Amino acid sequence: MTTLRSELPDLKEWWDGLSDVYSKVLQTVVERLFDNLNELAKLKENGYDIGQLKWKPPREFRSFTYSQSGFELDKKGGQTVLPLSKLANIPIRLHRAIPDEATLKQVTIKKEPTGEWFATFGVEMDHEPPEPPEKPEKCVGIDVGILKYTHDTDGTAVGSFDLSDERKRLEREQRKLSRKQHGSNNYEKQRRRVAECHADLRRKRRDFLHKLSNYYAREYDLVAVEDLDVKGITESPSDSRNTASAAWRTFLSLLEYKCEREGTHFVAVNPRGTTKECASCGVSTEKPLWVREHSCPSCGFEVDRGANAAWNILSRGAKQVGEGLSESPPVETALPTDTDSVSAKRVVEAGSPTLKEQTASAVSE
Ligand SMILES: [Zn+2]
Repeated sequence: MTTLRSELPDLKEWWDGLSDVYSKVLQTVVERLFDNLNELAKLKENGYDIGQLKWKPPREFRSFTYSQSGFELDKKGGQTVLPLSKLANIPIRLHRAIPDEATLKQVTIKKEPTGEWFATFGVEMDHEPPEPPEKPEKCVGIDVGILKYTHDTDGTAVGSFDLSDERKRLEREQRKLSRKQHGSNNYEKQRRRVAECHADLRRKRRDFLHKLSNYYAREYDLVAVEDLDVKGITESPSDSRNTASAAWRTFLSLLEYKCEREGTHFVAVNPRGTTKECASCGVSTEKPLWVREHSCPSCGFEVDRGANAAWNILSRGAKQVGEGLSESPPVETALPTDTDSVSAKRVVEAGSPTLKEQTASAVSE
């Protein structure tokens, strides 16, 4: 990579157009290419057929990155302006405020298929995130299921986010697109409309996952979840499997970095048997997917399937963290005895006002 980067000045001689582009932008393109090659090489080692690199003309570059420390946004009469070397001062609208203690390190400018341009900032925070507590007091286990989005040990169940209206709209626009003549003006207009629907769906789903993960990272000292890399996605029907699995992964990765930011323990546990095992006595019973209740033949413990799994996840997580702590977190003693009537609606309403506000529309039974 260093070689290629050092050849950039020569390449500029060879191709005039390159000189119009800010040098740091070209460097990040080289870095990106190098990273991609690295990833491909890894895949090839693992036996994947990776094909060949193709020439991509400049007009197909949808995004570029400015990487430099210490550039700042200007404020001109209430308008935020992003100054980009060799390009322009671009007025932008901030979707969320950049914290005062953050230093801008990078900005990526991207053109979405909708035709809109977005700037994404990479920032560095001046302060270190807080250390997770030695003795976590508020602990929670979360089971990520299919019928309900999450089910936790405090009885909070949050249903999968209802985006059916948005999906219907997308399908409608896609049908319209299929009737347009490819390449016509109307086709292009309709293609944008479809892209807008996609973007809307993506934004709403992500927003929901952000709020849900924020809630757990802020509310608790320890959050235990299943390690999805071990679990694999075998429980869901194949058509929805990819979507569900992608959403869970996004949720967990958001949760992980938010926990780090908030000083909350994040533990991913081995998921083997969390559904079958009784959270109260530990006896395993076979439980097909359609059995939604856990009813232990050995000790009589009865609870929702997801809640039982969540308790097992929490005790495994607490054990994992407890080994590195002077005292185990209080888990075993907290097992509920009266959770036989957990309703998603009721528990979310009884939950924190912020979560209620944010996910009230997301609850479905
Ligand atoms: Zn039992």
